[in-house]
Amino acid sequence: MAELGHGGKKIVERIMSASEAKKKAKGLTQIPVRGQIAKEIINIAYGFFTPLQGFMGKKDLDAVVKRMKLADGKTIWSIPILFDMSEAEIEKYGVKAGQTVLLTFEGNPMATFKVDEIYAYDKAKICKSVYGTDEDKHPGCARTYQYKDKFVGGKIMLVNKPKINPPYEPYFIPPLEMRKKFKQKGWQRVVAHQTRNVPHTGHEWLMKGAWLQAYGELPIEKPIVGVLVNAIIGDKRKGDYIDEAIILTQDELRKSGYFGDHNHLTSLTFWDMRYAGPKEAIFHAMLRTNLGLSHHMYGRDHAGVGTYYDAYDAHHLFLKVQKDLKIKPTFSMNWLYCPHCGEVTNEGLCSHKPEWQKFSGTLIRSIVQDGVKPPRLIFRPEVFDLVMESAEKYGFGSPFVTDEYLEKRTPVFSIPPMKV
Ligand SMILES: [Zn+2]
Repeated sequence: MAELGHGGKKIVERIMSASEAKKKAKGLTQIPVRGQIAKEIINIAYGFFTPLQGFMGKKDLDAVVKRMKLADGKTIWSIPILFDMSEAEIEKYGVKAGQTVLLTFEGNPMATFKVDEIYAYDKAKICKSVYGTDEDKHPGCARTYQYKDKFVGGKIMLVNKPKINPPYEPYFIPPLEMRKKFKQKGWQRVVAHQTRNVPHTGHEWLMKGAWLQAYGELPIEKPIVGVLVNAIIGDKRKGDYIDEAIILTQDELRKSGYFGDHNHLTSLTFWDMRYAGPKEAIFHAMLRTNLGLSHHMYGRDHAGVGTYYDAYDAHHLFLKVQKDLKIKPTFSMNWLYCPHCGEVTNEGLCSHKPEWQKFSGTLIRSIVQDGVKPPRLIFRPEVFDLVMESAEKYGFGSPFVTDEYLEKRTPVFSIPPMKV
């Protein structure tokens, strides 16, 4: 039976065998792409973006902007996947509709791209629809305004598989492989935890709460529900946690026994956060449906930034379109530490509001920067040690992204050399 993903469509796989790739790629015009586009190529080729088989044409983009759907009018789609080119590049490479070109990354062949159309689109209109604002200080809008003036739509086919570099290799688990893993584990339901963070106990409880919610009416004595941590690995901003610290510490919660093999798995998806709030929440639902998950956790201000969205906007939009999504939500309010309760609890549970200690980013950051081991009720000692170790091993002394890290880090993936 075919594995079905978002929109009830078969999981897309657009990957050529090495021998076929050599023949097909030969003699094609080569066009270099930047990291942003290379990540999207991987996502399309391995089915993370099912049912997309390539970069969006104008009809799909227009449907996404106007109706949050693909051009078929049925499939929900909330964030456009675009390939941009300048007029000068189009002229330089002689790109025309109907032509197949070879996309290269850092000098090596990556994918063929069958050009269906070249078109222009109002970027401010994209911003208003996806981000609810056209202000260029919104990071998603800024990213949109950076697109060059033309978009190119068409299908891609991966001709050269990415090499995932250490320490990330075990965590790149594409949709078809992920589904096999869930079967091996005997998980009947799996709930997604979206993250870009090193976990504190508030995150841990977000996962634990969602795990309980996902069990629902299932018999609880069997390990048939899992949590999938799906870390978003993409463009970094200074001050973010370094990717190595994020992925390794998330997995450490399993290794140190706060979870176990029977209920916890860590993986990554290449995605540049757009900070689209509710629209990104829907996008994450589509992505995790393709990974084979049954549930998705949404906390407060999911994928939000600044004050652009209200805390529960993502929950509301999800409920509005739920009938067109396969995945079910587990909603959560903030988890926090209450000294009166002497434990991590939830805004919706505990009434000692004046005593609450929220897990603010600033608090956690100051704990990490002090380098003094925090109370285990707030930050697990194993996680803390690993953050410090990652800083030394991968972060040039810092667990947070610095200029030096951006310049010298080992890339998460590279495209190996290939003769065509
Ligand atoms: Zn309390």
